[in-house]
Amino acid sequence: MSSKFWVKTFIVLAISFSSALIWADATENVLAELSNAHGVSGFEKPVRKILEKQWKEQGINFEIDGMGNLVGKFSSYSAKKPTILVMAHMDEVGFLVTQINENGFLRVQPLGAWVTHVVWSQKWVIGTGSQYITAISGMDPPHVLADEFSIPPVDFSKMFLDTGLNKKDLQAMGIRPGLPVTPATKFQVLKANKRYAGKAFDDRAMLAVILDLMKYINSNKELLEKVNVVFAATVQEEVGMRGAQTVYASLKPDLVLNLEAGIAKDYPTQFTEQQPPKLGGGPTVFIYDWSMLPNPNLVAMIAKTAKNNKIPMQWESEYNYGQDASRLQSSGQGMPAVNIGIPIRYAHSHIGIIDRDDYNNTVKLLAKVISSLDTKTIKAMR
Ligand SMILES: [Zn+2]
Repeated sequence: MSSKFWVKTFIVLAISFSSALIWADATENVLAELSNAHGVSGFEKPVRKILEKQWKEQGINFEIDGMGNLVGKFSSYSAKKPTILVMAHMDEVGFLVTQINENGFLRVQPLGAWVTHVVWSQKWVIGTGSQYITAISGMDPPHVLADEFSIPPVDFSKMFLDTGLNKKDLQAMGIRPGLPVTPATKFQVLKANKRYAGKAFDDRAMLAVILDLMKYINSNKELLEKVNVVFAATVQEEVGMRGAQTVYASLKPDLVLNLEAGIAKDYPTQFTEQQPPKLGGGPTVFIYDWSMLPNPNLVAMIAKTAKNNKIPMQWESEYNYGQDASRLQSSGQGMPAVNIGIPIRYAHSHIGIIDRDDYNNTVKLLAKVISSLDTKTIKAMR
């Protein structure tokens, strides 16, 4: 082995290390931290703790309301200016432990919407409050399923978790009914600065967008000359938009921009035809979901802003879909509301995929929309 070999190896290593450092930018780190955090509906505290630190660093004055929502304002907030609320939810879909049987297998209850087909033979974690215990959702192997198509669909009442521990061990570790279960998925960069895989991008990707928007506003303070921008990170969205119901009382907004998952349908047909929205096509502006009809003037204004600033955007309409803005829209005396999404492939499963350009374009679009709002434009939307 020559010394030249070592010089070469060192150079190769140095290059790969430095490029790894360049690639792992601040946004990727924030996305990873938020995606990896465990916070099923009703158990959002680990996510909220991360946000509290981020929001504090951006000079946001925040409080936690009685439901557990994190609500915050810039210190320049003034009751004389109209208030724009930018909102996303902290919770993710998961399960709740309901029973421990004599052999140590756990029964669970879904929290939020899952397709039954995707929950089998997966790795999960049960949070005890002090530690995370790994658990596997077992499924009969092919050897015992002579004809897998002849068995009826397996529903959630048949689902169990196997921790490898017996009942006595589980009880000693503090496992009991009422504890949260979330996918044991780690965030991964598929292509640097381009595509990411991970769990809970619905709606953690949008919590990361909120942080980047705060940073943008902090370095472009003129955005706050005509309006207040306030923020809410809500609880319990996935179990029926429960947390958002108390947000109005804390922030009294005049307009709401809700940030959510877009449902990408751009992969090869399985049960759904390929159709928009697609990854890389830009943020989606919802024109319809079952929970809310957005304010059409606000929708038109967002589309015009995207066009004028050459920001790609896509239209989205979802029947099986509700979101938090619906709870704000009819609060107080009512207000213009809209839902904006980042397209996610395979949402509400162990792992989804998002595109960095969509993320960046969402931050851009929000900044441009906010800069076009003032008392007059908001009133004219009524
Ligand atoms: Zn969501």
